Amino acid sequence: KKSDIGIIGLAVMGENLTLNLESKGWLVSVYNRTVAGVEEGVVDRFTSGRAKDKNIVGFNQLGEFVNSLQAPRKIMMMVRAGTPVDELIEQLIPLLSAGDILIDGGNSNYKDTERRVEQLEKKGFYFIGAGVSGGEEGALNGASIMPGGSVDAWRDVRPILQSIAAKAEDGAPCCEWIGGGGSGHFVKMIHNGIEYGDMQLISEAYFIMKALLESSNDEMADCFSHWNEGKLKSYLIEITSHILKYKDADGSYVIDKILDVAGQKGTGKWTVINALELGMPLNLIATAVFERTISAWKEIRIEAAQAFNREAPKKTYVTEQLLVEVENSLYASKLVSYAQGFSVLKQASEEFGWMLDLAAIARLWRGGCIIRSAFLNNIAKAFEEDPQLFSLLLAPYFKDEILNALPYWKKLVSVAVREELPVPAVSSALNYFYSLTASWLPANLIQAQRDYFGAHTFERIDLPRGVYVHTNWKGDGENTKSGSYNA
Ligand code: NDP
Repeated sequence: KKSDIGIIGLAVMGENLTLNLESKGWLVSVYNRTVAGVEEGVVDRFTSGRAKDKNIVGFNQLGEFVNSLQAPRKIMMMVRAGTPVDELIEQLIPLLSAGDILIDGGNSNYKDTERRVEQLEKKGFYFIGAGVSGGEEGALNGASIMPGGSVDAWRDVRPILQSIAAKAEDGAPCCEWIGGGGSGHFVKMIHNGIEYGDMQLISEAYFIMKALLESSNDEMADCFSHWNEGKLKSYLIEITSHILKYKDADGSYVIDKILDVAGQKGTGKWTVINALELGMPLNLIATAVFERTISAWKEIRIEAAQAFNREAPKKTYVTEQLLVEVENSLYASKLVSYAQGFSVLKQASEEFGWMLDLAAIARLWRGGCIIRSAFLNNIAKAFEEDPQLFSLLLAPYFKDEILNALPYWKKLVSVAVREELPVPAVSSALNYFYSLTASWLPANLIQAQRDYFGAHTFERIDLPRGVYVHTNWKGDGENTKSGSYNA
C-alpha cells in the first residue's frame, strides 16, 4: 500500500508532525538525509523508536521514499530553512511526476517561497509554503498551519493538513488557505514578529513588578495566572506563570539563574525589514528585536550601569494599584502591536495581490500557535464587521478598550520614566497611539527643513493637496526645485 504523505527531515518538527499525522489515520513515509559525520541512522532510530509499530515507513533512499507515495504525491519538507530547501528541491525534481505537491513546512523566507512556487509550477508541479507554529508540542498535538502558494493543490492537501491542526474553542481547525505565492510564510513571519512583541511586553511587566514591588516569584506567578483568566488570557501569559514558579532540584527558582541575554533566530528581524520595505510602522516589534540585541550586550551594560551609577529604585508602590496599571498597559500595548502587525498584513495583501482574509488569519491563530489568545476572537470580529479597517485601534470595540486602559497606561509609563526603568515596548506603543490619534504632527517643520537644505518642496495648508511649492529660504539660492523627493 502506498503512503498518503511523505515527510522529509526528522528533527524535532518532522518527527512530531509525523506522529501527529499517523495518529489521525494517515500512512506516512519518512526520509532524512544521512550524512557521514553529521548524524547517521536518523531514520532507523526513529522507526525503531518513537515510530515503532506505527503506520510509518522509513527510507534512507530519496528515490524509494518518493516511489512509496500515492499519486499525486504529497511531500512535506521539515528541514532547515534556506539553501537546504533548494538543495532538496533540486534532488526531488527528477523524481517527481506532473501534479505532485511539495509542501515546505519550515520557516522559509516568503520571498524564497514566491520563487519556489513559480519554479515548481513551471515544471508542472505544485508548491505550498506552509508556516507551522506551535513548536514541538503543536507539531505533535495540533499546530497552527498557514498554507499558501499553489491554490490548485489545496483540495488534495486540505484534509491532511487540517487533520493535524489545532482546533480552536469553537472546533474550527487552525489551518485555512491563506493565499497565493509566499503569503503563507509571510503570515507566519508576522506571527513570529508578534510573538517577539508579546514576549517583550510580558518581560517588561515582569521587570516593573520585580523592580517596584516586594513580590516573590510565586506571587508574580499567581498574578500572571490571575491575568490569564481575563482579557490577557493567552498561552504566553500562561507559560510565564509556570516559568516563574518552576524550581530546580535544589529548591531554587530556575528563572533567577537564567542569564539575561536573549537569543534570536532572525524571524523578528525579517518581520521588521519587510514592514520597512512596505513603508509600514511596526514600532513595537522593532523595539522588541532591538531590545534582544541590547540584552546581548551584557558586559557593556554592566560597565555602563557602573559608569552612570544606576541604583535600584525604591519599592514604595501600592501593589494592587501598580498591578492594575501593569495589566492595563500590557493589554493596551498588545493591542497596538496586533494593530501594527495586521496593518502590515493588509498592506502586503494589497501590494502583492494576496487578498488576505484578516479575520480568518486572526481565527487560525486562536489555537496551536505561540501567540494563541482569547482576544484574537475580538480581532476577527472587528475585521468581519469592517474588512477594510485601517487600524484595529479604530474599531469601535478596541477604541473603548483603549480609552479604558489609557489612564493606567499613561501612569505606568510615567512611573517607569521617573524610576529610570526601561519599558521601551510599552512606551513605544503609547507613543504610536498618540501619533496615530494626533490631528496635527510637527511634520511641517520636517518639510521646511527638507525644503531648506534640499529644495524638496512642500504642500501648503492654503493650497490644494498635491501642489508642491518651494521657498527660497536664504534669499540667495535659485528657485530650482528637487523633483524627486515628494513621494
Ligand atoms: P532544524 O531547523 O534543526 O533542521 C534540521 C533538519 O534539517 C534535519 O532533518 C536535517 O537533516 C535537515 N537538513 C539540514 N540541512 C539539510 C540539507 N542541506 N539537506 C537536507 N536536509 C537538511 O529542525 P526543526 O525540526 O527544528 O525545524 C524544521 C523546520 O521547521 C525549520 O525550518 C524550522 O525553522 C521550522 N520550525 C521549527 C520550529 C521549532 O520549534 N523547532 C517551530 C516552527 C517551525 P540532518 O539530520 O541530516 O542534519
